[in-house]
Formats: sequence, C-alpha cells, structure tokens
Amino acid sequence: MLLIVFHTVILIKWFCELLSSYQPRARTSPGSGDFVCSVCHKIFPLQRMLTRHLKCHSLVKRHPCRFCGKGFNDTFDLKRHMRTHTGIRPYKCELCEKAFTQRCSLESHMRKIHGVHQQYAYRQRRSKIFVCEDCGYTSSRPDEYFLHVRQCHPGSPALRRYYRRQAHENSSFASADRKLNPYLLYSNPAYYM
Ligand SMILES: [Zn+2]
Ligand SMILES: [Zn+2]
Ligand SMILES: [Zn+2]
Ligand SMILES: [Zn+2]
Repeated sequence: MLLIVFHTVILIKWFCELLSSYQPRARTSPGSGDFVCSVCHKIFPLQRMLTRHLKCHSLVKRHPCRFCGKGFNDTFDLKRHMRTHTGIRPYKCELCEKAFTQRCSLESHMRKIHGVHQQYAYRQRRSKIFVCEDCGYTSSRPDEYFLHVRQCHPGSPALRRYYRRQAHENSSFASADRKLNPYLLYSNPAYYM
C-alpha cells in the first residue's frame, strides 16, 4: 500500500516536471520577493520583468526584423535590435555630441564621462520619448509623433498596425464619435520608455 502511494507521488512529480519543462512557469522563492525563471533560473525583482523575460524562451518568435528577418518575442528587443540597422540614436547627450540607441547607454555615458548621476525614485516614471524608427524623429508627445508618422511615413507598418487596432476598437465598442487615439500606435508599454 505504502509503496503504491510512493509510486503515485513519484509519478505526479514526474508529470509536473514534464509539464513545467513544456511551459515555463513563474516561481517565487518564499519570502525573498524575487521571481525566478523556471527555465534558466535567472532572478527578477518584479513579476512583470519575469513575464517579459519568459517570452525569450518561447519558440515562436512573433516579431521579425524587417531588415534581416531575425525573430523576437518582445517588441522592445526588436526595436533595440532594429536600431543596429537603422543607426537611429534617439538618446542624445546634452553635454557632448554623443547619441545612443538606448536610454541606459546614455545614462551610463553620463555617469562615466560627465560624472552625472541621475536619481530615479523607485518606480518613478522617466520622461517618455516617442521615436520614429523610420527616420529617427523624436517627440515627447504621442499626438505629435502620430502626426509625424502619418505625414512622413504613410506606409509605415506602425501605422498599419494602428489602423487595424483602431478598427478593432471601433467594432468592439461600436462608438460612433470615437476619436483617433495616438496611444493605440503602441502595442507594448515598452514603447513609452
Ligand atoms: Zn529564463
Ligand atoms: Zn535585423
Ligand atoms: Zn556626453
Ligand atoms: Zn519619421
């Protein structure tokens, strides 16, 4: 009898391990508040960081690079990668001529070269910039950015996505006087960072 119970436990354990190897699951170590990736055991301080990270283990790459075809699960990673092709550097140093593809590179430049330490309170929102991935245009306002894309790049994939989402929103809420919403241009909150 005991042996059967023991075997069942082993079987259940084995089955769970099998399941978790197919589907990456979030696991938290008790008390620490850290979120551990069950696939590669990397540790993240926030659940949303782990959720984003887990996409990199997914075999289906949903966002292909239109320059080289390399696939990404995260639009943020795709954007970062595409800037290696376009050379778009939206983050400009105010103290010298240098410009960077990512905000963190600019911040580390400011620290190392100019000794400027930017202090951000925990989870404080940094000023957002909207970057046109076609020409490098930047704006701090989404409506301005939207007008730019519509005027200068009417064939842009971002715009096509936007119209699709707009059509979807209109059909699901059936509101006649729904205004154009520039925020719909962004499918992912990472676009704001
Ligand atoms: Zn991982
Ligand atoms: Zn590429
Ligand atoms: Zn500088
Ligand atoms: Zn542009």
